[in-house]
Amino acid sequence: MRIKVIGGGLSGSEAALQLADAGHEVDLYEMRPVVQTPAHKTGDFAELVCSNSFKGLALTSAHGLLKEELARMGSKLLPLAFESRVPAGESLAINREDFSSRVKQAIESRSNIRVINEEVSELDPQAWTLIATGPLTSETLAQKLFALIGSSRLFFFDSIAPVVMADSLEQEFLFTKNRWDKGEEPDFINVPLDKEQYYAFVEALVQADTVEPKPFEKKQLFEGCLPIEEMARRGPDTLRYGPMRPIGLHDPRTGKIPFAVIQLRTENRQKTLYNLVGFQTRLKWGTQKEILTSLPGLRTATFARFGAMHRNTFVDSPKILDGTLRIKGTNIFCAGQLTGAEGYTEALSTGLYAASCIHAALSGNNDFKWPEPSCIAALVSHLTSPNPDFQPMNFNFGLLPVNLTWKKKERKMLQIEACQQSWQGFQPMENSVVEKSLSI
Ligand SMILES: Cc1cc2nc3c(=O)[nH]c(=O)nc-3n(C[C@H](O)[C@H](O)[C@H](O)COP(=O)(O)OP(=O)(O)OC[C@H]3O[C@@H](n4cnc5c(N)ncnc54)[C@H](O)[C@@H]3O)c2cc1C
Repeated sequence: MRIKVIGGGLSGSEAALQLADAGHEVDLYEMRPVVQTPAHKTGDFAELVCSNSFKGLALTSAHGLLKEELARMGSKLLPLAFESRVPAGESLAINREDFSSRVKQAIESRSNIRVINEEVSELDPQAWTLIATGPLTSETLAQKLFALIGSSRLFFFDSIAPVVMADSLEQEFLFTKNRWDKGEEPDFINVPLDKEQYYAFVEALVQADTVEPKPFEKKQLFEGCLPIEEMARRGPDTLRYGPMRPIGLHDPRTGKIPFAVIQLRTENRQKTLYNLVGFQTRLKWGTQKEILTSLPGLRTATFARFGAMHRNTFVDSPKILDGTLRIKGTNIFCAGQLTGAEGYTEALSTGLYAASCIHAALSGNNDFKWPEPSCIAALVSHLTSPNPDFQPMNFNFGLLPVNLTWKKKERKMLQIEACQQSWQGFQPMENSVVEKSLSI
């Protein structure tokens, strides 16, 4: 069966190699260098657009665990990343040119992959296709996706508020309440601030270091979605009448309305992750951490992701994709950042997962199931579970299932053990190379 893979980035290259080694004919479309994106610099496969790090390797870190799973499940690109490794302590940092050239060699060594350097501008819902065109999907293809899934299902801009792990919060300084007590049960955690704390916070925001937007991102800011530091600069009370308004939020411990409130809204059904409502920001990550952890209740907060505002094309995965990352009612699958799986390792993971699902579907294997509870199953579950405020997300421990009887201190180790157990005896795709010997 001939399969069209659109995009020769991290997820598309991983998927193309997986599908080829499973015996399929693959047409791999990559528009660069003929048509460039605003961030890529070369025509290479799997070009890393920014950092050269695939993050941590320790098995006790979320990205270390995810890598181990990728290795066991036969990722094609992860071993190449190890071959291109440069010293970076416990992280997997790579020489990007060397990595891309190894990916190129791997692709060229498969006679059943045909590389076509062309911008894809049409989509056929019945043709077996994987779209892996990333955050900078070309305009023309984005329009075709618009037409296929509906314009409100495709987002072009990320304005992301920081997300914190629920069990890292100092609950004694916080209270749980919905505004005006609306709803059946309280869903929001509130961080109350007094006058002094609020104005100190605003001052810190005004003075803070921000990330300069890239030229192609500058025109994208719109009034309804300003970064918090911009709101702070507009006046000392702007935030208090905006996302930090306390109205309807009586603190049950005092019976009074605080001077200002930061609201935390849950990110997942398990309520292990919370985002800071309306706190989209361009502050540098270190600065976000410094300023936010100076607040009562957040002093020990662990960040599952920091806030960001940048160009990013992604689909409303919970609405349009099924559990195999397939656009419902079509033969088109999605992988990489386009699904909202943020980050390099996540791109490899969804590329491998989507390729496995396509292979299973074409082989008539209706029983194919990724092992659970594993990192990739948890990531895919986050992408495809109902979520009205869906935003891109890195893999993190907050996505892994937890048993509420587990003690907080032991939770992470038990999550890791459960993942490792789920990998036992799993048969990876036919002919895929399982790298069991990675020294991680
Ligand atoms: C400016 C910027 C900086 C980033 N920095 C980081 C970082 O430091 N660390 C990190 O983990 N993540 C970072 N990301 C997120 C990063 O993009 C993803 O982690 C990763 O590259 C996603 O892989 P992907 O395969 O989904 O997309 P990509 O790696 O971007 O691959 C998509 C490919 O599709 C091609 N393409 C697009 N449209 C078409 C078309 N119509 N026809 C044919 N080909 C097409 C593109 O040329 C590209 O090669 C950054 C993103 C951006 C935009």
